[in-house]
Amino acid sequence: MRVRFAPSPTGSLHIGSVRTTLYNYFMARQGEGGKLILRIEDTDQDRLVPGAIDSIYDGLHWMGIRWDEGPREGGGYGPYVQSERLPIYQEHAARLVTDGAAYFCFCTKERLEQMRAGQRARGEITRYDRHCRNIPAAEAAARAKSEAHVIRLTVPEDGTIAIDDLVYGHVEWPLRSIEDQVLLKSDGFPTYQLAVVIDDHLMEISHVFRGEDWLPSTPKHLLVYRAFGWDVPPHAHLPNVLGPDGKKLAKRHGATKVEEFRTEGYLPEAMTNYLALIGWSPGTEEEIFSLDELVQRWRIDQVQRAGGKWDRDRLNYFNGVWIRRLSDDELLRRLDPFLPAEWDRALVQQVVPLIKERMRTLAEAKDLVAFLFADTLDHDRSILVPKKKEAHETVTALSRSTVALRFLEPFSAERIEQAIGAVAADAGWSVRDLTIAIRAAVTGRKIGPPLYASIALLGKDRALERLEAAQELLAA
Ligand code: GLU
Repeated sequence: MRVRFAPSPTGSLHIGSVRTTLYNYFMARQGEGGKLILRIEDTDQDRLVPGAIDSIYDGLHWMGIRWDEGPREGGGYGPYVQSERLPIYQEHAARLVTDGAAYFCFCTKERLEQMRAGQRARGEITRYDRHCRNIPAAEAAARAKSEAHVIRLTVPEDGTIAIDDLVYGHVEWPLRSIEDQVLLKSDGFPTYQLAVVIDDHLMEISHVFRGEDWLPSTPKHLLVYRAFGWDVPPHAHLPNVLGPDGKKLAKRHGATKVEEFRTEGYLPEAMTNYLALIGWSPGTEEEIFSLDELVQRWRIDQVQRAGGKWDRDRLNYFNGVWIRRLSDDELLRRLDPFLPAEWDRALVQQVVPLIKERMRTLAEAKDLVAFLFADTLDHDRSILVPKKKEAHETVTALSRSTVALRFLEPFSAERIEQAIGAVAADAGWSVRDLTIAIRAAVTGRKIGPPLYASIALLGKDRALERLEAAQELLAA
């Protein structure tokens, strides 16, 4: 079992590519001695983005994916970057010309443009008219020594070509619909069609798993295999990750890059778990799987054809589940980069267990606990007064609470709870309303960690100070 993932370094890693990579990873790790190979597909030199290879490495390592061969890992089938393999493609293309399976084409850009304009004017599909296909071989070879040229595949005029895709089943294309595609460009770079087939063959890839976007290009690849006389490895085209509108997930839908999710505070465990389920279902109700469990459970025949919709609420749900599965210490470690360096880590450590139950993302933690680290709060009048209560009643209730807390010893969550319960009963307030006002007064927010424990952590002096400041504001 040798599988590969073959990103193009055209920007940071899209989560659709990560999902494809995950499926390749599962496949490689299921078989005894299976190998996962990273190949960088950079033949389209105009689209390269500096730093993209680093970001591929960072993103996949963060997800917990490790591979066996690649540009930095080495391996027996290198180089693993296509732009470093140009002589290989050139020799192979030349071999096809010698065998009569491909030919030199000397058509200029101007001629091709004219040809296309004519085809468009006649309402025909624009495609190469095979102008150079019948130049006698000796003449073409002589001209190729001095004239700019490309190499094109000789595509048969009739018949069909087909594949039995592991996900899509039998798919067949009429050859009539396929033009004599360029294999090698005039600058000596291969087209993608040539490079992918040569690499998959020479790297002895046993299964090609890639995005469904590549299905329409597959007949072109099959023709290249046929021209070389090579066996076609099993292919699986994997359904796209879709946006909420059913179109392929793109920037306009929101975050699409691994690093964006990382900075928003998603755990790699949750990303892996959720992404794996887009396009695959275990056939049971179970849905929480670690990377290792996914390796055990995932099966290519359970991959669906229909694309799966990316759903942020569901991702949040998975993230929450995985956050709660972390030990408090581990959660603390993961939260560290999301919290200001000057915040006292001993206090952070005490508050983390309180927010663990409520957090959906690591990034949310900061706002949830900021009240503990702020010197003073900017109180918001509108949240201090509970619905159906008046400001002056709230002042009274807060003032009673202040009195009750002032002499409380020990200042523990339990004692605070009792004291506030007693105040509510005395004042004829529900505990709910009273805690709304107190929470707004001591934390400045409507929601946050459990209130009594929060007050205890804040400490008596700061809690009383904030209760008083809130009363002053309301009384003013
Ligand atoms: N380089 C292609 C991409 O980034 C991969 C296609 C393939 O896996 O064959 O989408």
